[in-house]
Amino acid sequence: MTSHHPDESLLQAYAIGNLGEPLALLVATHTALCPLCRNAVRDLESIAGTLLDDLSPTALSEDSLSSVLAQLDGRETAAASEASSPVAEGADTILPQPLRGYLGRRLSDLPWRQRGVVADVALFPDRKDFTTRLLRIRKGCRVPLHRHEGLELTLVLSGAFSDSQGHYLRGDIAVANSSVVHQPVADDDEDCICLAVTDAPVYLAGPIGRLLNFAFKY
Ligand SMILES: [Zn+2]
Repeated sequence: MTSHHPDESLLQAYAIGNLGEPLALLVATHTALCPLCRNAVRDLESIAGTLLDDLSPTALSEDSLSSVLAQLDGRETAAASEASSPVAEGADTILPQPLRGYLGRRLSDLPWRQRGVVADVALFPDRKDFTTRLLRIRKGCRVPLHRHEGLELTLVLSGAFSDSQGHYLRGDIAVANSSVVHQPVADDDEDCICLAVTDAPVYLAGPIGRLLNFAFKY
C-alpha cells in the first residue's frame, strides 16, 4: 500500500484530462499501483461526467462530449486490464501498464546514460515544458544535491529512497518544489528505479553540483 499520493488538485486535473502528457503518465502509473487514488479518480470522473451531462447541448458539441467519454472509457479499460491480465512473458513486471505501454521496451533495452551513481533515460524529449526521466539510483547511494525551478514529482517503481521529507517505496510519489534542496538516498538492498517529472529545469546545488551544471544539463 502506498503512503505518498498526488494531491487532490493533481488528481482533479488528471480526471478531467487537463494535465500535460508527462504528468498524466506519472499520475496514471501511480493510480495503477494505488487503489485509493484509482477510486478517487473514478469518483472525480463520474462527477465530471455528471457535470457534462448537465450542460446544455449548445454548450458542448456532441463531438467533444463523445471524445471525453471515449477517453474515460479507455482509461477504465486500461485500469481493468492492468488489474486482471497477466503480464506478457518477458515484460518488465515492475512497470505498470501505462508506463510499460508508453516505453514499449524492456527497461534493460532503454538507452540508459550512466552519470556517476545515477543512470537516466530522457522521456518526452520534444517537450520543452517538462523534464521527464527514468532514474536508476545505485543502491545505498546519494543523488547529487540539487534543487529545481519548478515542481518535481518522483514516482518510485522499484526499490526505495529517502530524502529529508520521507521514505518512499514502490508506488509512492515524492514532491519537491523550488524551496527544497534535496538529496535522495537509495535504500541499501537494491537499486531504486523512479519516474521523475519536473516542470522546469533541475539545477545541481553545492560546489560539485555547480561545476556539473556546466558539464551537462542534469
Ligand atoms: Zn495514491
